[in-house]
Order: sequence, then structure tokens, then C-alpha cells
Amino acid sequence: MSHFIAQPKQGVPFVSVQAMAKLINSLGIENVLLELTHKLETDFARWTEFDKSPRYAAHSPEGVIELMPVSDGQMFSCKYVNGHPKNTFRELQTVAAFGILADVDSGYPVMISEMCLLTALRTAATSALVAKYLAPKNSTTLTLIGNGAQSEFQALAFKAVLGITHIRLYDIDANASKKAFTNLSAYGLNVTICNSVQEAVQGAHVITTCTADKTNATILTNEMIPQGVHINAIGGDCPGKTELDTKLLERANVFVEYEPQTRIEGEIQQMSESFVVTEFHKVVNKQSLGRTSQDELTIFDGVGFASEDFTALVFIRDQLIKSGEFTLLDLITQQADPRNLFSVLNTEQTSAQEHVA
Ligand code: NAD
Repeated sequence: MSHFIAQPKQGVPFVSVQAMAKLINSLGIENVLLELTHKLETDFARWTEFDKSPRYAAHSPEGVIELMPVSDGQMFSCKYVNGHPKNTFRELQTVAAFGILADVDSGYPVMISEMCLLTALRTAATSALVAKYLAPKNSTTLTLIGNGAQSEFQALAFKAVLGITHIRLYDIDANASKKAFTNLSAYGLNVTICNSVQEAVQGAHVITTCTADKTNATILTNEMIPQGVHINAIGGDCPGKTELDTKLLERANVFVEYEPQTRIEGEIQQMSESFVVTEFHKVVNKQSLGRTSQDELTIFDGVGFASEDFTALVFIRDQLIKSGEFTLLDLITQQADPRNLFSVLNTEQTSAQEHVA
């Protein structure tokens, strides 16, 4: 089966931010999140087919720049993504990303895409998928601590996948909570803004922590959290950046995406190497029980793994094939004789001369 959307010599299909927003709106965001969750489940089930490695990370005092490669032997993907918590103070995003999908057989790019929106979608769909397996039965209330860029996507994924009806918001910046409240007002959810973490976690079945601060923060303390809750901890995703009290981790059944990466970046960077965690694919593949009782505390220590981006990029590739609507980028040279790369310079010179004339 060809992985290409267009003939490689025609150019590289490109999904701009505008094109991605149009695609999501035309399909409906909740449908996209639901469909993406199914695709993620299918790919987690074939976990052993992926060639995996922890991501490459270039750290600086204010943030991190990462490359996230993965391949299933047929296709290869790589995401460029940063994490700069102070960016919002200069009116830039904390997370900015773009990605590439490529054909392993020829090494040619299949598609290049924006991944700010796509990362938010895949992170929310991954959170909801994990919660589908681990959250207490009949969960209706989700608490969102940290109401920034990711928050509405989280709320809508949990609504679409788990049937969550009530959202409790808390952020140290009240304007962030107001923004999330306004954005969610059209989606039939019962949304409450809370004044503290303590207040926000009252009555929650699932708690998402999605804060951005490059520090070992304690967003949730041990005393705040009763048994029987599922914590979706996704904000702590690089060395020196965590959100949970270690006592919570000690009490909980902890699940991760890819253990070698999460040991470096996740909440469990605070724990010893002997601290036991379960990779989530084992739950999907029924090699692990997942939640063992209704009063167990479960934690998803989610840092974001490359295979989730792969799934999301393939999903978008498939949508472009269906719609037939895409822009082509002149990214790879296309000379008639592949070995005559030099001829491309001559063509450029000719056209420049023609232009001058
Ligand atoms: P953002 O900057 O848009 O939002 C973060 C919010 O957290 C802000 O509104 C901020 O006021 C709030 N916050 C900071 N400290 C807080 C505290 N102590 N209590 C309550 N709220 C607090 O960032 P974002 O794009 O929403 O991302 C949030 C975090 O999630 C980042 O750290 C990012 O790196 C991470 N992230 C993880 C994944 C993953 O797959 N695990 C994916 C995307 C983003």
C-alpha cells in the first residue's frame, strides 16, 4: 500500500494551522478526539512493532527543545516540539510544534504538518484513552488543574470518550480559568471555576494536572486526594519539572507510556529506579489488569510519546486522502535526472535571468 497522498515528485503535502483548524471544524472536534482515541488504542495494541527511543532533548534554563522520532517499519515520523513555560509572558505559546511523516521504503516525506493543534488533540485523546481503562467506572466529574492551551482539548476528549459531564477548573491565573470556561460554554458541559486546588478536587473522579512551570512543584499533595481517583498527570514532562507529591506516587498504581523516557522526564524521576510502574500498552493488550479495585488510586504519568504523534499524523494523512484537499510544498528537488542535482541551480539561474529580462 502506498503511504503517499500525492506523487512524491509533485511536492510534499503540507498542513498549515489554518488547514488543520478547517479540517477539525469540518469533522467536529469531538468526532476527531473520539476517532483519534480509537486509532491510538489500535497503535498501542501493536506496541512491539514500533522502533522506540527516548526523545532527544536540548535543555536551556527557560525550557527544552525536543525531537521525537519513531517508526513502525513502514512509516517514520518525527516531531519538533518545545516546552517553554515562561513563553506566555511574552505572548508566545508554551508548546509550539510541527511534524513530518515519511515513507520508510524511499525515505521521502509523505506530509509535513503543524502540530500545535495536533499535539493538543493527541495528548487529550491519549489521556482519555488511558482513563477509559483506568478511571473508576461511571466517572462523571473531571478536575482540570492548569487551564492553559491544553485544557479545553482535555475537557472535550473526556466528554467524548468517557461521557464526562462536569468540569471543575482551577488555575493560579483566574483569567486562564475564565478563558477555558468561555471556550467550553458551547459544549453542553457543566463547568465550575474553583478558587483553590483543594476546592477543585472535591468530588472528582479524574484529575488532570496540566500546569507549566519548570520546577519540582507539588500541585497535588497526598492529603488532598482520596482513594478511588484517577490522576492524569501530564504537565510534568521534562527533568526538574514535576507536579505530584511523591507520597501520592507511593500510594498509587502508576502507569506510563514508555518507561525509559518517563524515568527521565515524568513524575517518577522523583522515585528510585526500583519503583514499579506499568507500561500502558500492557493494559490494552491485557498483560496487566490496570485498575484492580474501585478504591485504588491510579496515576497516569504521561509525558507524551512519539508513537502518539505518529498515530495523529497518520490520522491526518488519511483525512487528506479522503478530502483530496491539500497544498504542496516545493521541498525536495525534482530534476528529471536524479543524479543531475546541479541542473536545479541552472534552472534557477535561467528563470532568474528570464525574470530580470
Ligand atoms: P500553558 O502555558 O498554556 O498553560 C499552563 C497553565 O498552568 C497556565 O494557565 C498557568 O497559569 C497554569 N499554572 C502554572 N502553575 C500552576 C499552579 N501551580 N497551579 C495551577 N495552575 C498553574 O501550557 P499548556 O500548553 O497548557 O501545557 C501545560 C503543560 O503540559 C506544559 O508543561 C507542557 O509541557 C505539558 N504538556 C504535556 C504533554 C504530554 O503529552 N504529556 C503535551 C502537551 C503539553
